[in-house]
Amino acid sequence: MITGTTKLLGVIGYPVEHSLSPLMHNAALTKMNLDFVYLPLPIAPENLATAIAGLACIGLQGFNVTIPHKQTIIPMLSEISDLARDVGAVNTVVRRKDGWWGTNTDVAGFISPLQTTHQGDWSDARAIILGYGGAARAVVVGCIQLGIKQIHVVGRNLSKLTDFLHSWQNLPITVNLQVHSWDDLSRILPQGDLLVNTTPVGMYPHIDASPLSAAEMMLLRENTIVYDLIYTPNPTKFLSLAQARGMVAIDGLSMLIQQGVAALKIWLERDDIPVEVMGEVLRQHLFA
Ligand code: NAP
Repeated sequence: MITGTTKLLGVIGYPVEHSLSPLMHNAALTKMNLDFVYLPLPIAPENLATAIAGLACIGLQGFNVTIPHKQTIIPMLSEISDLARDVGAVNTVVRRKDGWWGTNTDVAGFISPLQTTHQGDWSDARAIILGYGGAARAVVVGCIQLGIKQIHVVGRNLSKLTDFLHSWQNLPITVNLQVHSWDDLSRILPQGDLLVNTTPVGMYPHIDASPLSAAEMMLLRENTIVYDLIYTPNPTKFLSLAQARGMVAIDGLSMLIQQGVAALKIWLERDDIPVEVMGEVLRQHLFA
């Protein structure tokens, strides 16, 4: 129940109607019996600075940030985490005494299912990442956090691949990253311990598409972990091909839920987030 004491959280984006975050976060807040509500906040790009000042005035506790504000919000915040700096995008903001503090929970969201799947050491592992967009940046930072030895990024546009490679060079982090055109795949695939799709290929309604063909999937070793950031359909064609070969397959819903869990931990300063409830409400909404 919303009362005079209810505290506010939300998500800013434009548009924001399709965001799954209000559903997922309100389910968790209700389960935890907290006097909080999480709101969709549509903010047009030209209103962003005014809106950020306004959100501080109304005492919002924190908020998520989605397209198109993930980069443009950065100069409007008092401080950002090293993670957000390395990814180059903020998706979670919390109110601190000295102003808004921004971070990026996509990295924790990406890593969490991998740590559950493989609790060992990653220092000998090689990752292959398909695509070089915004999500790929969080995946690269996640691979660095896991201690993965070598990262191969594969894309279809050579000049964008070169820009992606150069974008890591001025950061105070060490990254062993190589970029490759799609034509190199047959040579690289047999080396992968982890294969991640960060392209939208295979996303609903194009459910019969896959970034790799069945023949290309056959080039992977059987113990390769295959991860698709897409969460509808579930599984994607890409993950179905991996499952057909008996490989471990991780879907994008796990990442979506875990980035939300990480945001709630920051806002509420608690670790006991009801992750099952968040997953249940999303599965019901997306697939029932
Ligand atoms: P983005 O910035 O637009 O990047 C998309 C990347 O995919 C670009 O490198 C693009 O290359 C490449 N690409 C697009 N179509 C392609 C094709 N037909 N063949 C080969 N490469 C292609 O998007 P994003 O924000 O990174 O998101 C990517 C995907 O991740 C989306 O499906 C999104 O829903 C998902 N995602 C999931 C989560 C989660 O929590 N599960 C979080 C973030 C994102 P070009 O520039 O050459 O087109």
